[in-house]
Amino acid sequence: MTAARGLSPLPPGATLGILGNGQLGRMLALAASRLGYRTHVYGPEADSPAEQVATASTVAAYEDETALAAFADAVDAITFEFENVPARAVAYLAEHGPVRPSWRALDVAQDRSKEKTFFAEIGAATPPWRPIDSLAELEAALRDIPPMAVLKTARFGYDGKGQAKIKQPSDAATAWAQIGGDQKSNNVSPYAVLEGFVDFMSEVSVIAARGLDGTCVSFAVTENDHANHILATSTVPAKIPPALAAQATEIARRAATALDLVGLLAVEMFVTRDGRLLCNEMAPRPHNSGHWTMDAGGADQFEMLVRAAVGLPLVAPEPVADVTMVNLIGDDVNDLGRYYADPRARVHLYGKAEARPGRKMGHVNIVRPKAH
Ligand code: AMP
Repeated sequence: MTAARGLSPLPPGATLGILGNGQLGRMLALAASRLGYRTHVYGPEADSPAEQVATASTVAAYEDETALAAFADAVDAITFEFENVPARAVAYLAEHGPVRPSWRALDVAQDRSKEKTFFAEIGAATPPWRPIDSLAELEAALRDIPPMAVLKTARFGYDGKGQAKIKQPSDAATAWAQIGGDQKSNNVSPYAVLEGFVDFMSEVSVIAARGLDGTCVSFAVTENDHANHILATSTVPAKIPPALAAQATEIARRAATALDLVGLLAVEMFVTRDGRLLCNEMAPRPHNSGHWTMDAGGADQFEMLVRAAVGLPLVAPEPVADVTMVNLIGDDVNDLGRYYADPRARVHLYGKAEARPGRKMGHVNIVRPKAH
């Protein structure tokens, strides 16, 4: 990995390394091959969604430094499809060549307390929150942030995992045990965060993309609906006033710039009933709420990340249609007849053999002519 050190783009035929081999890596590899690049994916699982379509694959643990060294030698630049890559692996790879985005973005996004502190630093509001390291701290924090509240592990939570709702102060001990606080090892601090529960009007997200030359562009604000803590649908245009949409976009761009990020940054926000935006979390990678861009976004989020990672220029993406993205979760994937019969529906499947409950198996973009 030496060719991509300067500002000049990697030439077609160069190899983009992708850490992580799930569906995001798969769609990233497909976008890279459209632009003429080879891909090499790295992750712990065999026959993964990304491995099925990438040019090359390494199946190894993120801690395996021999495999990481061979991977670093085989690729010209590296990006990620998920943020929970161990710090040591990223530091090791960064010594060998360009890693985009850099460790700082991953480090902030891996930890909910760092994320919320970062949002405050860039002047973006969040729900009220407190860092929590013990049951005693939780009980004290519940006096400042009275229920309803949500207790979340600071790290490694996704799709509602590692979260417990607190409806009354006496729920504290149960909630602490539910997120594993009573068995925690002491090497991560804070272990959890307590957040005030937001009675939101809607949830929105914005994906910003930032190139090697600092150019920052963003996709249209997306309105998201969740079921069982998992994203169910994303719709564009979002039903929020233009001024609020402009604010949401500005927050995502400010965050990407403050992180000096090269790549994508998705920021999820709550829209309160009195018309304010509260930042929930962010991810420095392609995001499920950006899958609509594949059929209605102009240059899609995966192409945009490939462009950033190989040093190509970014262009401001314009939605070319109105769209609703429907996630295919678990058994949904066994009922595709109505989508295949619908000319507005574009089906994307991830190549996963087993449809377990809660597992993201694919998505469908239902594309409509633009209303205005
Ligand atoms: P998260 O993993 O933090 O994105 O949470 C998953 C989903 O749970 C969010 O998209 C919301 O629908 C809901 N949720 C999380 N935190 C809160 C909160 N503080 N108030 C209300 N709903 C929340």
